[in-house]
Amino acid sequence: MDNTCFYCGLPLRVIDRIKLADGNKICKVCHNKVYETLNLNIITARKLTIERIDAGYEALGRDFYDEVQSLLEAKDAINEVGIFSRFFIELAAGAGPLHAPGKVLLVQLNDNRIILDTEKPEYYYLIERSFQGPAYKSVFSSKTIKNTTDKTNVISEFFGLGKNNDKTNADSLQKTVETSRDVEIKSLATIKLFRISDGKILTAAVHADTEDYSEILSLQLHPMMEAVDYEDKAAIAEKISITPDEAVERLKQLKELFDLGILSEDEFAEKKREYVKHL
Ligand SMILES: [Zn+2]
Repeated sequence: MDNTCFYCGLPLRVIDRIKLADGNKICKVCHNKVYETLNLNIITARKLTIERIDAGYEALGRDFYDEVQSLLEAKDAINEVGIFSRFFIELAAGAGPLHAPGKVLLVQLNDNRIILDTEKPEYYYLIERSFQGPAYKSVFSSKTIKNTTDKTNVISEFFGLGKNNDKTNADSLQKTVETSRDVEIKSLATIKLFRISDGKILTAAVHADTEDYSEILSLQLHPMMEAVDYEDKAAIAEKISITPDEAVERLKQLKELFDLGILSEDEFAEKKREYVKHL
């Protein structure tokens, strides 16, 4: 009998092997994902079969096998290319096709590609970022302190001689100090991502404070955008040592960047000339 996980293909150890009702075996990691996604309980989990898992995912418009393969590919890419940066971002509502709102791990590889840790990871390039903050709010706090100028009271307390029970007097021995300080609250940041699989440009809103945004600022831009930033002709020349097919692909991407107003007409014309040479 095959001793690998039905979905991820990783070798199964006795300790984390789950046998399904149809005799197939899957690993604990895959099982946990299925368990969470399909909202299983202990009883339904016992009756789990490959057919049921696939049907459950299909009902959600998803494909578990496909998602597992994407995750494995992303892991390979991370190992091969190496990580440039990794941190969590907090996607705001309305992040649209990217992901449901919430915390997402963002990994940037050394080749500038960005992977978002979603069910089915996709590769992106960062093409633009902006920040509406910082914004602050005042936090008030009041503190009641004992007026220690009345030495008699302090001393009598110290010697355990009992508190001054005269209410009027006690009040006059206290004073309230109000303090306020400014605390930074999260503002909206926007990141514009270029999805490598289909060239679509997606905009995501992110909750960020200055510190979060400094992490976003530390990300590398799309290789073409980096070249624009530094007007480094040598970098452009190096990046366009490519096949005719790739040249067509880049031209399409350039057109899209131009249409979106990210590249000026001059920048577009200059880059177009470079790529057309490779057709
Ligand atoms: Zn597995």
